[in-house]
Amino acid sequence: MKIYISADIEGVTGITDWGEADKSHADNAEFRERMTAEVAVACEAAAAAGATEILVKDAHWTGRNLLAERLPRPAQLLRGWSGHPYSMVQGLDRSFDAALFIGWHSGGSRGGNPLAHTLSSSGLMGIRVNGEWLSEFRLHAWAAALEGVPVACVSGDEALCDEVRAFDETIVTTPVARGFGAATLALHPADARDAIRDGVRRALHRPLRARAAVLPPHFDVQVVRKDARDAYRRAFYPGARLVDPMTVGYETDDWFEVLRLLQFVTG
Ligand SMILES: [Zn+2]
Repeated sequence: MKIYISADIEGVTGITDWGEADKSHADNAEFRERMTAEVAVACEAAAAAGATEILVKDAHWTGRNLLAERLPRPAQLLRGWSGHPYSMVQGLDRSFDAALFIGWHSGGSRGGNPLAHTLSSSGLMGIRVNGEWLSEFRLHAWAAALEGVPVACVSGDEALCDEVRAFDETIVTTPVARGFGAATLALHPADARDAIRDGVRRALHRPLRARAAVLPPHFDVQVVRKDARDAYRRAFYPGARLVDPMTVGYETDDWFEVLRLLQFVTG
């Protein structure tokens, strides 16, 4: 069995403030270690379930957060950003049996986590697709679906886990924290690791419960920026248009074309 793990930090147990997610800030060290520990137990559980290959994508900010020495073998670590439109699941292809999203968070304009955002917390209000606010979860679950790979387990904040279950009840979720306003209430880190270990074990228990997502036939995308100057310039992306002073619009039947667009209009 070949497993893909995408790791973020804003859905790691107890994280509450942007300084804790920022490598240049002293508060980050504790949460970088916690992120690594949560990914490590996911790797251990995947290996125990029969994974012989595990690719871990460090998918937060610089893509250089996880402490490789603390991940168990046979995990391999993909660091940094190639610029491939698959973004937080780059390197994922049809050869993988399942994907796991560890430390993920609620989407921009969705709340449920003080650090909720989609792709860019500084430049974007959020992204709407077919009238609904898009989370990084849905964005990348659909990217995985392009490769026929199911997302089997997601850990992160409660609001995200609620969204994941509504998206597909066969995906195992392990909520580790609840956000309200600028505050969080979180599991003890050891309890969170136990929950993630158990979630991955249940998710990968054969036969795999989760199936690859079904892609909608059409995508009406609105990228809502925080600054009208940024929206104006990005609306010149081929096929895009300015819907209103803050919003870049784009329509297609091909999710890969949306992923390509997002590489150029969200930064
Ligand atoms: Zn992140």
